[in-house]
Amino acid sequence: MVRLKSTIRGLPNYNPARKRIDEVKQEYGLKNIIKLDSNENPFGCSPILMEKLLPSTKRIARYPDWGILELREETACHLKVKPEQLIFGNGSSELLQLISRCFLEQGDNVVTADVTYPHYKTNAYIEGAEVTKVPLKDGRHDLSAMAQAVNASTKIIWICNPNNPTGTIVSSKEMHEFMRKIPNSVLVVIDEAYYDYVTDSSYPDMLSQVGNYPNLIILRTFSKIYGLASLRIGYGITTTSIVKKLNRIRDLFNVNFLAQRAAYLALQDQSFIQECHHKNSEGLYQLTAALDRLGLHYFPSQGNFLFVETGFSSGNIYEYLLKKGVVVRVEGSWRNPTAVRVTVGSKEENQVFLNELEHFLKQKDGAL
Ligand SMILES: *Cc1c(COP(=O)(O)O)cnc(C)c1O
Repeated sequence: MVRLKSTIRGLPNYNPARKRIDEVKQEYGLKNIIKLDSNENPFGCSPILMEKLLPSTKRIARYPDWGILELREETACHLKVKPEQLIFGNGSSELLQLISRCFLEQGDNVVTADVTYPHYKTNAYIEGAEVTKVPLKDGRHDLSAMAQAVNASTKIIWICNPNNPTGTIVSSKEMHEFMRKIPNSVLVVIDEAYYDYVTDSSYPDMLSQVGNYPNLIILRTFSKIYGLASLRIGYGITTTSIVKKLNRIRDLFNVNFLAQRAAYLALQDQSFIQECHHKNSEGLYQLTAALDRLGLHYFPSQGNFLFVETGFSSGNIYEYLLKKGVVVRVEGSWRNPTAVRVTVGSKEENQVFLNELEHFLKQKDGAL
């Protein structure tokens, strides 16, 4: 047997428990599934793509543009940054890999929140780095504790803002206080996957700070509000110097042609984004008002999802909802045995979720 790379030996196997949608349909005899488990856009993507993306398939026999120029110009213009400050990836997941691969080695340290997006730590482990996990405080990043956790070996600090799975944000004031404490030799990566959903005015404008802090990387994605999850495309905004370093190890054709084209077109339809932002705020209100009525605790969310403490085993709720055709997310790694994360769906989808949740709670109460 070929010996597995030592840094990978301790990693868990790929989540085998999660069922695919067609398996769920078949197993429970369901026609429709309401998929509220992956924070995708329930309204799809811009209708412009339906019309304009298909003709692009004529070109798929050719390798994509390795410079990603058309999209780079459009994104730079949209964000008011220089094109050379952008790095694109096969989903922002690839950027997590690239950043870790580029800067981490055996003996290095990484600081993350606990609980947050799990891939920050996984990529650190693969590179042989160790991870300091700083517990959330009331579901929020504890930035002063994270700053204190930095030691001489620390290379990267990951901040997920809004945080997945809790949906909470760190404020502008907290972020700036934090940045002032962190030495320039430590990279601060702020994952803003849910940026376009935020409504809270205390949310930091870190994009405008990219020039001011030479150690700052911001990550965004087209997978969430832009509705392009299946095409796999995300990007980072940072200094031209960091972009150059990351480009040394980037696969030349890491972003496929259809993804480049779709993202380019999607950026130009900001009215679709505004509409989705608005519907998401309404959906959050619809869900939180009902959860209040049911007396369930949740964290205040600035994303397109809610972290709900149900008071009952999350595994039982998951199974119950699944049989009714509603898929939510539960994870053992959250170490919260009653929590479920539910994506904000369409108004109708939210209502089905709430009805089924209420049925479940009534049944349980009756059984007690
Ligand atoms: C969904 C999500 C992403 C996006 O991943 P892609 O690879 O771009 O699809 C990144 N970070 C967080 C925290 C997310 O929840």
